Amino acid sequence: MRLFKCWETAITSEKIFNKTYKLDFLNYVMDYSKLCETYHALESTTKGLEKTQILADFLELIKNPETIYLLQGKVFAEFNNREMGISHQLAIRAIARAVGIGDKEVLESFKELGDLGKVAEKLLGEQKKQTALFTQKLKIEKVMNSLRRITTLEGTGTVDLKLNLIVDLFHSASPLEAKYIMRTVLSDLKIGVGAGILRDAVVVHCFKPESIEEKKEYVLKVQEAYDKTTDWREVFEKSCSDTLNTIELKPGRPLKVMLFPKAANITDAFRIVGEPAAFEYKYDGFRVMINKDEKGKVKIFTRRLEEVTVQFPEIVDYVTNNVNGKNFIIDGEAVGFDSETKKYTAFQAISQRIRRKYGIESMMKRFPVELVLFDIIYHEGRSLIEVAFEQRRELLKKIVKVEPYKIILSKQIITSDERRVNEFYELALGENQEGLMAKSLSAPYKPGSRIGHAVKLKPEDNDFDLVITGAEWGTGKRAGWLTSYNVSCKNNGDLLEIGKVSTGLKELEGDELSYNEMTKKLQELETHEDGRTIKVQPKIIVTVQYQDIQKSTNYASGFALRFPRIKALRPDRGIDDIATVDEVRKEVEE
Ligand code: ATP
Repeated sequence: MRLFKCWETAITSEKIFNKTYKLDFLNYVMDYSKLCETYHALESTTKGLEKTQILADFLELIKNPETIYLLQGKVFAEFNNREMGISHQLAIRAIARAVGIGDKEVLESFKELGDLGKVAEKLLGEQKKQTALFTQKLKIEKVMNSLRRITTLEGTGTVDLKLNLIVDLFHSASPLEAKYIMRTVLSDLKIGVGAGILRDAVVVHCFKPESIEEKKEYVLKVQEAYDKTTDWREVFEKSCSDTLNTIELKPGRPLKVMLFPKAANITDAFRIVGEPAAFEYKYDGFRVMINKDEKGKVKIFTRRLEEVTVQFPEIVDYVTNNVNGKNFIIDGEAVGFDSETKKYTAFQAISQRIRRKYGIESMMKRFPVELVLFDIIYHEGRSLIEVAFEQRRELLKKIVKVEPYKIILSKQIITSDERRVNEFYELALGENQEGLMAKSLSAPYKPGSRIGHAVKLKPEDNDFDLVITGAEWGTGKRAGWLTSYNVSCKNNGDLLEIGKVSTGLKELEGDELSYNEMTKKLQELETHEDGRTIKVQPKIIVTVQYQDIQKSTNYASGFALRFPRIKALRPDRGIDDIATVDEVRKEVEE
């Protein structure tokens, strides 16, 4: 299916411009309406292949490669953490101001439609019909610039400036454009395009594979390039010019961390990673990818590429003082410990440090962390991803000056002996850690993939990371709190409910995992209210433990968790990290 073939490509004046100017000219000419028609077409189908083709057709038209960010509802590469910071209240005010009505009217419409994008489309449509107010056509470049500007405005005094930028866009937008401007501003495009579909579209458009095998091969290449750069613009440009092989790691820019599948038991672990193998404690902290860039600046990223350097100044110190090298990328886990007993604590105890932007000093004292390093990916200008794990670990040993409770290397044994592994496993569990990682000695580092270069061994693994998509107000002594949470897994770009969870939280005020704190967080994300229940933007990731999973028609995923319980909040994880329906299905079938 080739859509939008008739779109003009705006190269009409090609001959009269010199090359540089021509490129600029092309960047400026694309109408935002073209993009919105694509969004609309994507939203109108649930079929992955159709979405891929629609996207591939659109990619053929874009001249400014940065437009690709907008296809994921973003204005920067994934590693850029800048956010628009527009709440629903502010969005409502922007629509009201653009249309010239009161906030209350917008709110009514929101209650009816449940989507501020649709509200903007409807209300601006009605207004424009009356006033016949059609100004110049909106260009992609203008939308991009305004949205980028919004991300640079921080603090309370900037609210009006943000509002003006959105209202200004609305004034030159058609109703359909207003819908997608609103959704982009709220970081919720609702077009069902996950990173996998975008990647496939890049493959289809840039490489035009002729067989399924050929397509698979390019999919791997493009994915690999993306996992190294986390920048669709660069991957898109280099795919189209067939120069993906020039993509390099750059310290200072985060890459996707390597992830690990699970082994059923020790024998299975040996079967997957070979023997002898390295076994390491699987620490219960959170993943940190630490970069020292060419200028010697240390930056810390979580596995969802969020920069947390400010939140962990002690890690910056440890790395600066104890790791030798002008530039590097090292991989590890920040693990909490009790400052008095020196015993390791569970991840939940330190999770609140990840988002904290103030009171850092006191958080550092209350919730100290030890940096446990387990891999190195780049050192002194050289990528090490092709180097065998055994040698990477050797290098790590050489360049790190270990200081317990500050910076250590993961505890490790190398063995082929199951009995020794068993003893080591017991030790890990005895020290409050989650289990073991078994690692292949000869394997390279594979950014992003959950390939079997290493596997995890945990005693009991009945949990999934899921996102909260709705909640219900409590009754009785829990009245006034949202106490039951709808949790969802994902399927491509869609979120599908898999259960309701109401245990695991405390009634204690102030505790991160209390009903009180959760209620505050969820209310900020509320998008829709219906009696006792609300819907929320999918931002809060939780680890949910369960006893069993059943097939069920009650939830869109087709499954229901039995006896679910929230184990931890995961501010270090994002939508990309939550469980997929396929993973759930696999658990049921096992
Ligand atoms: P799980 O929920 O089982 O912990 P996960 O979603 O956290 O899985 P996985 O990739 O499946 O992520 O498990 C590996 C994680 O364990 C890593 O991302 C890392 O944060 C952590 N980890 C702890 N110790 C180690 C270690 N020695 N080597 C590698 N990863 C480790």
